[in-house]
Amino acid sequence: MGQSAGLRHVLDRAAEGGRISPEEALDLYRSAPLHALGRAADAVRRRRYAGTEHIATYIIERNINYTNACVTACKFCAFYAAPKSDGVWTRDLDDILRRCAETVALGGTQIMFQGGHHPDYGVEYYERHFAAIKKEFPQLVIHSLGASEVEHMARISGVTAEEAIRRIHAAGLDSFAGAGAELLPARPRKAIAPLKESGERWLEIMESAHRLGVESTSTMLMGTGETNAERIEHLRMIRDVQDRTGGFRAFIPYTYQPENNHLKGRTQATLFEYLRIIAIARIFLDNVAHIQGSWLTTGKEVGQLSLHYGADDLGSVMLEENVVSSAGAKHRSNRLELLHLIRAAGRVPAQRATTYEHLVVHEDPAQDPVDDRVVSHLSSTAIEGGTAHPELKVVAAN
Ligand code: SF4
Repeated sequence: MGQSAGLRHVLDRAAEGGRISPEEALDLYRSAPLHALGRAADAVRRRRYAGTEHIATYIIERNINYTNACVTACKFCAFYAAPKSDGVWTRDLDDILRRCAETVALGGTQIMFQGGHHPDYGVEYYERHFAAIKKEFPQLVIHSLGASEVEHMARISGVTAEEAIRRIHAAGLDSFAGAGAELLPARPRKAIAPLKESGERWLEIMESAHRLGVESTSTMLMGTGETNAERIEHLRMIRDVQDRTGGFRAFIPYTYQPENNHLKGRTQATLFEYLRIIAIARIFLDNVAHIQGSWLTTGKEVGQLSLHYGADDLGSVMLEENVVSSAGAKHRSNRLELLHLIRAAGRVPAQRATTYEHLVVHEDPAQDPVDDRVVSHLSSTAIEGGTAHPELKVVAAN
């Protein structure tokens, strides 16, 4: 693939901080040489983080899945069960609070409360749970849910999305994780999630949240059969809202996992496509501060590479994850390994808060925290023999 003068010009302009159009982004995505694209994205990252460009961040968090019952039946999803089917489960509040306690004991700072669209769970359910979590663990940040859950809970409770946002925020939700974005353009969204709200509605709800003071991250599921143009259109839709609100803290693309779902893995994004989207996101989303590389769905080496393609964050040590692992993502890590991965990629690791402030900068490997319980677990866990809260029992996922 040659690098035409036109593409080189656009790459140079982007590397110098100029805004590029969706058409230019699509050209670069399709045709720019991979390394040139990565170099330009890295230049943009370095400029944005001048002074701390040697740092790459991570967070310690836990996904807490409260139910797998879901009426929305997305075709890519390996996690949900139809509400009256065998295999449906819900978790009670005590169990959820125990998982929060384990998270705190292991130095986690954030939980992602994540589950299906349960036919009975309206705003009141989330208010009750967030208030209980905050009462017992005020130090835990509740970074959870997204526009799809807001749309669903508002419908169940017969209130507007804005009222639902106000109420769950008042009860303790700190920020939205941006779940349910999947693919925002209509054609691929209908193909994989026909019962979800439209992409425009998803964005409208996130925009309302930002205006109500609840910031969020944004996500993209890639590899379910969308076109290159649709991937760039997804980015454009996010950039336009961000121009108005500035409420998206980060963009987090991840790849479709093919096991145990109705799409049956007919299509998948390649790792090169993933790296290209990371780089394009850094260049095109000039108004979004953080780009997260994901090793959970792409593997650790690709996670490391993403740090050279524009990513400034390498996700989390996820103390529990049941959703993408149900669909086949089997990569695990622990804190020490994550620190090593980041250092081997030429960066200094820093544990961050949900809002991306650096909590601990691990300048000296000799000072690395030694706790072999801080490990990513697929399908539950957690602190067998833990010392911080020895009274806690290890709780099973399901
Ligand atoms: S992705 Fe979410 S909304 Fe869709 S089926 Fe799975 S749990 Fe339900």
